[in-house]
Amino acid sequence: MKIRSVQCRMLAGTLSKPIQFGIGAFPTFSATLVYVATDDGITGVGECIVRKAPQVTKTVVEQLLSPVLVGRDPHDVEGLWDEMFQQLRGWGHYRGFVFEAISGIDTALWDILGKAAGQPVSKMLGGAGRPRVPCYSSSVYFDEIPKMVAEAQQQIALGHTAIKVKIGRARALGGRRTDVASVKAIREAVGPGVDIMLDVNSAYDAATAIKVCRQLEDDDITWIEEPVPPDDLDGYQRVREGQGIPVAAGESEFGVFGFRELIRRRAIDIVQPDVARVGGFSGARRVGALVHAFNLRYAPHTGFSAGIAHLASLHVAASVPNLMTYEYFFAPNPLRDLFTEPFPAPVEGFIDVPHRPGLGLELDERIVRKFEVT
Ligand SMILES: [Mg+2]
Repeated sequence: MKIRSVQCRMLAGTLSKPIQFGIGAFPTFSATLVYVATDDGITGVGECIVRKAPQVTKTVVEQLLSPVLVGRDPHDVEGLWDEMFQQLRGWGHYRGFVFEAISGIDTALWDILGKAAGQPVSKMLGGAGRPRVPCYSSSVYFDEIPKMVAEAQQQIALGHTAIKVKIGRARALGGRRTDVASVKAIREAVGPGVDIMLDVNSAYDAATAIKVCRQLEDDDITWIEEPVPPDDLDGYQRVREGQGIPVAAGESEFGVFGFRELIRRRAIDIVQPDVARVGGFSGARRVGALVHAFNLRYAPHTGFSAGIAHLASLHVAASVPNLMTYEYFFAPNPLRDLFTEPFPAPVEGFIDVPHRPGLGLELDERIVRKFEVT
């Protein structure tokens, strides 16, 4: 089997009301889909995480990385990953857009391997015997506190057993005091039996994060996510050492090299790679070995990515060691449901992993065209 072509399509979908959280207001979801076609008629699909300008990853995939791939056997997927990376790391591209481009390609290659073998990707990755995985409901965004409480209660009424809440308000939105009040109100409303995760989206400094965490230490918080910006490794260490809530991070990190530093410093407890940024399935699996070696917990990130990344993350969750929980995104996301059938729905805290070959769901061409930009 040989790779015949590598091509991208760009998607964008805008919400009628932007979502508000630690990085500000977010109106438009975007994605770059990567289609890798083989000479025996199999096409694999992957996704590169995009927050703005999908043209960038499209150019990297088609102009810089495609020449490494065309004519090669997709079964050499890990070696192709190393060759793509080797082409570019000398230019300083060991983070950022290039890594996101490699991620989309690698995901498509594993989709091909699964389709060729008649197996779901989770089993091609080694399998862990998990036909379904634990999940949490993501996320309650900034609003007036009674509305946030009502949203959390609604998710629990739907059968969820764990919920993520956004904190990290700017001063104009009430700052850290409103953050603390919102979490305490939600804990009071949902009772002691529900897991509550907090996500700062890097909006605090270490001192603020420590202060807020100490005020919430008696509220049985499962983790505090991205308390400080991803480049503030000293800040991560201070937060981890300065209070009692487990620290989570990883959606802004690239590849095993980025996670190596966070983990070596004992800066995090829960590791949250995004398959569409960490280097695809190969990257996610290599980080999984680190998680295993250091006895940490793995919680794949999904969030604002499109449906292929959400689906791929399910296969990551089904196959990595030390899985903690999968991020099931209930907040509005116009690009999540791109398939000919509904995305799996959680039941009482668990979500089914598609078992058909490859990623296991087919893109609905009519839906993809609706969001396609050129
Ligand atoms: Mg997050």
